Amino acid sequence: MPENKYKRILLKLSGEALAGDNKVGIDQETVDKICEQIKELVKMKTEVAIVVGGGNFWRGADKNMERTTSDYMGMLATTMNGLALQNALEEKGVYTRLQTAIEMREVAEPYIKRRAVRHLEKGRVVIFGCGTGNPYFTTDTAAALRAAEIDAEVILVGKTIDRSLFCRS
Ligand code: UDP
Repeated sequence: MPENKYKRILLKLSGEALAGDNKVGIDQETVDKICEQIKELVKMKTEVAIVVGGGNFWRGADKNMERTTSDYMGMLATTMNGLALQNALEEKGVYTRLQTAIEMREVAEPYIKRRAVRHLEKGRVVIFGCGTGNPYFTTDTAAALRAAEIDAEVILVGKTIDRSLFCRS
């Protein structure tokens, strides 16, 4: 078993990273692959917290819509991704908790920092939904915020990169 480099990490997954080649929605195979890697980290006793984006469903700043409404829709989208990650991880036997910055008690715990840290200490993967809970922000900001709050050693970012930008013609 390889040794873990970090004790506690914050993984930022963009929504697009969950969409695979489709770029929108959720690609279950892609989610499974990501969760398999997360499982390996948990096995190595790395404490894993995840901030998940929502860009595969909705991105704010839509010019046809009032900004805060659009941003709240984006935050709700992150929770759909959070549920998909939770489902895939639990199917692999990884214990998880989903905590959201906007309360929706029927589907997730509200974000409580101390409780999140306790879950991590117990080896549960904690998924943070709804970003910061505030419009005019992004989940990248939420990743930095949560990482600081839970005292993560490192922020690792999983995004889809447009490879065509790196290809020479
Ligand atoms: N969002 C927000 N406040 C936050 C986090 C997210 O208003 O703290 C909204 C914002 O509209 C954003 C959308 O949710 O565009 C989806 O998040 P993001 O664009 O960061 O997702 P990603 O690009 O990582 O998939």
